[in-house]
Amino acid sequence: MRDQLLVQAKRIVIKIGSSLIASRAEGLRPQHIERLADEIASLRTQGREVLVVSSGAIVSGIRKLQLKEYPKHLPIKQAAAAVGQSRLMWAYEKAFERLNIQVAQILLTHQDLADRRRFLNARHTLAALIGFGIVPIINENDTVAVDEIRVGDNDTLASEVAHLADADLLVILSDVDGLYTDDPRRNPSATLIPLIKEITPDIERLAGASSTFEGTGGMATKLRAAKKVSEYGIPTLVLNGERTELLPTVLRGGPGGSLFLARERRLNSRKHWIAFTLRSRGHVHLDQGAVDALTTRGRSLLASGILKVTGSFEAGDPVSCLAPGGKEFAKGLVNVSSDLLDHMKGLKTADIHERFGPQEYEEVIHRDNLVIL
Ligand code: GLU
Repeated sequence: MRDQLLVQAKRIVIKIGSSLIASRAEGLRPQHIERLADEIASLRTQGREVLVVSSGAIVSGIRKLQLKEYPKHLPIKQAAAAVGQSRLMWAYEKAFERLNIQVAQILLTHQDLADRRRFLNARHTLAALIGFGIVPIINENDTVAVDEIRVGDNDTLASEVAHLADADLLVILSDVDGLYTDDPRRNPSATLIPLIKEITPDIERLAGASSTFEGTGGMATKLRAAKKVSEYGIPTLVLNGERTELLPTVLRGGPGGSLFLARERRLNSRKHWIAFTLRSRGHVHLDQGAVDALTTRGRSLLASGILKVTGSFEAGDPVSCLAPGGKEFAKGLVNVSSDLLDHMKGLKTADIHERFGPQEYEEVIHRDNLVIL
């Protein structure tokens, strides 16, 4: 199962972590980028399409600006990203030029993905680049991204790109071998798990909250990324990118890394986008009757089942639905602002008409804009 999946994956998003291609002491390490470019070129000769999500801009910029430590202040971090990104791209250009492969730079922020039109536009651009046989090199647009519009880490960005590009496989290359049965630094008998059928709470516990020095993620962000794309039918391979030739070997069916299988029942692109790309602007707390109507009877959300409204949102914004007890179980696009909804909550449709006049929509969240999580 694992081998077949890896051998057959045609369109692959490969995330390259900072620690693989840059260090604070040396800055960018172009020979490492060359080696990875060689391996990517060999995948292409097998007829595969590759998109790269590469970190390393900030670390490379730190070195170029001769900063003594990882910048804490945002403008300095962004300045480092700006000088580092051009260096990073230059190294990719050079590395792929040797192999007669063209590359293109794409810089994204969360805002580009949260706007459906921009999301679709980015999707078309990626498709066009792939059509030209180009390897897109994607990073977060760190220079302009402030917290509200940041994707935040490149494992998450890579999961977004895998969805954008309709990839068959997401590969996360880092300096870890994959997911272990226990922390291998503390427990020498810990073993690598080659295949994870489902990301259960137990699996999540194994990932812990580790973090490497160069990057922003740890195993936890990788798992989150894997979980996200699995809902869109895309499996994720976590692999040690420091080991020469491991990537092409594993993709030919050899041993190494941890493969997380995708869900069999996948969400469609728009519902996946609502559930996993958009960020909720508020919460609606529902009674049990409404929870049942949504989860087992496939209904839309009406005002009568809403007990409480929190947060501040406008019509069209993404909002989370909470069950009694506070668990988020659904997410959707609301038709009513939080201010108005606060007055409408608990009311039947007839009462709403009487009090507020005819409404554009009867549903607070229409079924088509609602995802059960
Ligand atoms: N975008 C950041 C950079 O290129 C890295 C973020 C990450 O590694 O998660 O430096």
